Amino acid sequence: MKQRLVVVGAGMASGRMLEHVFEAAPDAFDVTLFNAEPRGNYNRLMLSPVLSGEKTYEDIVTHDGDWYAAHGVDCRFGEPVVRIDRANRVVYSNAGGVPYDRLVIATGSAPFILPVPGKDLPGVVTYRDLEDTEAMIAAGLAGRDAVVIGGGLLGLEAAAGMAARGAKVTVIHLMGHLMERQLDPAAGYLLQKDLERRGIRVHCKGATKAILGKGRVEAVLLEDGMVYPADIVCMAVGIRPEVRLANDAHLEVNRGVVVDDAMRTSDPAILALGECVEHDGQLFGLVAPLYDQAKVAARTLLGEEAAFRPVQTATKLKVTGCDLFSAGDFADGEGREDILFRDPGRGIYKRLVLQDNRILGVVMYGDTGDGAWFASLMKDGTDISPMRDTLIFGPAYQGGTAPDPLAAVAALPPEAEICGCNGVCKGRIVDAVLGGAVTLDAVRAETKASSSCGTCTGLVEQVMAATLGESFVKPAAQAMCKCTGMSHEDVRRLIHSMGLKSIPAVMQELGWKTVGGCHSCRPALNYYLISEWPLEYQDDRQSRLVNERNHANIQKDGTYSVVPRMWGGVTTPAELRAIADAAEKYAVPMVKVTGGQRIDLLGVRKEDLPAMWADLNAAGLVSGHAYSKGLRTVKTCVGSEFCRFGTQDSTGLGIRLEKLLWGSWTPHKVKLGVSGCPRNCAEATCKDVGVVCVDSGFQIGVAGAAGMELKETQLLATTPSADEAVEIITAFIQLYRESARYLDRPYKWVAKVGLDWVKSQVVEDPVMRRALCERFEISQSVYRRDPWAEHAAPTERAKWGPLADLTLEAAE
Ligand SMILES: Cc1cc2nc3c(=O)[nH]c(=O)nc-3n(C[C@H](O)[C@H](O)[C@H](O)COP(=O)(O)OP(=O)(O)OC[C@H]3O[C@@H](n4cnc5c(N)ncnc54)[C@H](O)[C@@H]3O)c2cc1C
Ligand code: SF4
Repeated sequence: MKQRLVVVGAGMASGRMLEHVFEAAPDAFDVTLFNAEPRGNYNRLMLSPVLSGEKTYEDIVTHDGDWYAAHGVDCRFGEPVVRIDRANRVVYSNAGGVPYDRLVIATGSAPFILPVPGKDLPGVVTYRDLEDTEAMIAAGLAGRDAVVIGGGLLGLEAAAGMAARGAKVTVIHLMGHLMERQLDPAAGYLLQKDLERRGIRVHCKGATKAILGKGRVEAVLLEDGMVYPADIVCMAVGIRPEVRLANDAHLEVNRGVVVDDAMRTSDPAILALGECVEHDGQLFGLVAPLYDQAKVAARTLLGEEAAFRPVQTATKLKVTGCDLFSAGDFADGEGREDILFRDPGRGIYKRLVLQDNRILGVVMYGDTGDGAWFASLMKDGTDISPMRDTLIFGPAYQGGTAPDPLAAVAALPPEAEICGCNGVCKGRIVDAVLGGAVTLDAVRAETKASSSCGTCTGLVEQVMAATLGESFVKPAAQAMCKCTGMSHEDVRRLIHSMGLKSIPAVMQELGWKTVGGCHSCRPALNYYLISEWPLEYQDDRQSRLVNERNHANIQKDGTYSVVPRMWGGVTTPAELRAIADAAEKYAVPMVKVTGGQRIDLLGVRKEDLPAMWADLNAAGLVSGHAYSKGLRTVKTCVGSEFCRFGTQDSTGLGIRLEKLLWGSWTPHKVKLGVSGCPRNCAEATCKDVGVVCVDSGFQIGVAGAAGMELKETQLLATTPSADEAVEIITAFIQLYRESARYLDRPYKWVAKVGLDWVKSQVVEDPVMRRALCERFEISQSVYRRDPWAEHAAPTERAKWGPLADLTLEAAE
């Protein structure tokens, strides 16, 4: 007699399993197939082409009514199973029970819904099945605003599909770059660029706070206050194995329904397969392993031996024009090495992660033709040492000799264009070199090659080298670090001229030689981007030096010092009380007045920092930025308010300057001083900016120092008006922010650019001065905020605690 086989879920995994079963033993089972969706099996992967309008539902059906009828399957579509009675071997839908001898659970996954206010508003959809796809299409996408929450594979397919139907799409992604599970930041950046090129806006590091709307979705609000209008919101933030039935039936369930190698659950009469299962601790979200599971499940049902062995699967995104490939593991790790290839001009990025001369991971963008070959080397664990030098160039290059980079340039015809910006061809450069221009600067002056955006500089040098032979001496450019041959100045210039707005963008477009930069270029790039694009760039905390990352100064014993801001050095009894309370509460070993007239609480444990900040915040105190490459203090004397000699209100001016300038990130720390008369009790003449009040007004000195080097300030300007003094000082700080090299104090920068040039910008040219002040104000609209407050929130505090509490173990 035929066995009764009941299958729950008519999805991609069970469809493939039934094919194998009917092929091997057409008469072995009487099959009943339940499906919550009102239809049978279709190719879920192809929902995106349906969404974009490239295909219809009819094109993607894989098992139609005729197929099921031909195999005698009793189809219960639109009839979800609600309960499994294992003791009596019966499954129940709302229409009644069906007995089974063997049961297969293939219920797939359910989309995860962010628990934010507004999640249930009409217009909020997920992306899992045909209904979701039709809901998006029915929203009448052309010209409408659509927001996709989630920049993973599914979210981006939804975004591209809706954009193809004419929607104005914004993708909100929590992480720093798109598809972070499959791509590293460089490839994520290229993907973002491609999407932006097709009109899709991307907001990374965006946490959704609420979905807004009265009766229907109208907008999405982010934690950072950003609001995006939305006629439709698609949530694609992840999936969860659909395990409710298995759970209720008391089968073993972890994150998914636990199965053994033969796809059997903890009840041998019940099998499970597809996205709902967990095998050896692993879940599955792509079809390739599910098809292997289908084969194994079919053989198990037929009483044959079979074992499921998951293999690494590669990821591709089904968005036309976004060519990416990712396979294996590409995280950083000890003993891992990278081979990297970047071609900024063509937007190509290839990265191989190696360990012990074997490929562990592959990430490619732009040119993925060799992806399958790399993946097969990875799968086979091939020792790549014999071809290491040319490995990244793919199979075509294997077996030959390594190409000589100069040979390619030497072979270029004279009319080949070298500098795109200025239309300079190779012949023109060769002529200039033969005519005596033997340095890069001379070639630039003579031909204009490499004098604009600068990306062709390397190529110009190669032409020079090919022309001059051994007598070519490559200028010893003071490269930023080992990750690039470019100087700080070139990098800043190119960030501006090429509109580069993220660290991965800089690294890709300027051909960084390392994957993610190093401890010296990352903080510099982070600063340059903050200063260039204050409204668009999102600060990268991981790229900051340790003190800035922790918003406190780390001391030699690993504790921290906490310095609240005291505007102009002035405080109140209430503030002093709050500081004293905090010092007692957190058992601060030393309380000390600093050289900049602030109170330093020394010896604070890292895990106490957020709570202490919260206490100080509650008393109205904010961070003094005593750790920052930014404005530290404005030291003042008592001035005309109390002193017999004071000519102006130096305390008031100091407070005004500090309230204006605080929080602004600068290339290095900046300290100010304001003295009320030439007696100079605030020691203003050894500060980065010092004001000395005189009878006729204000003398502004700059570029002083009292650290490793001692420097007296140089006179920048004298003005009768306090307002003008403030404007000149603001413009000076902004000019320093915009043009100094990272980690150059103002005195070093002024020595490089010359005080006359600084004067010409901020004193003699009032239009330029105002423009600088305006740009400063724009940047401050984002950065004039207290970093302590952001990190003192209870939800943030866990991040400051120790990674593990080992004290108990030690005690045991
Ligand atoms: C838009 C989209 C694009 C994708 N693109 C790719 C891709 O490019 N590459 C790739 O490898 N993978 C892709 N995937 C993932 C792939 O589709 C899934 O891995 C695969 O469909 C999972 O198969 P499954 O059989 O486990 O589940 P499903 O195909 O989801 O089938 C499960 C079925 O079970 C039904 N069900 C659930 N509960 C019950 C119940 N109680 N009673 C009855 N029926 C129930 C559900 O309604 C559903 O029809 C994509 C997925 C989506 C949504
Ligand atoms: S600098 Fe002049 S005004 Fe200021 S405290 Fe000293 S003497 Fe008084």
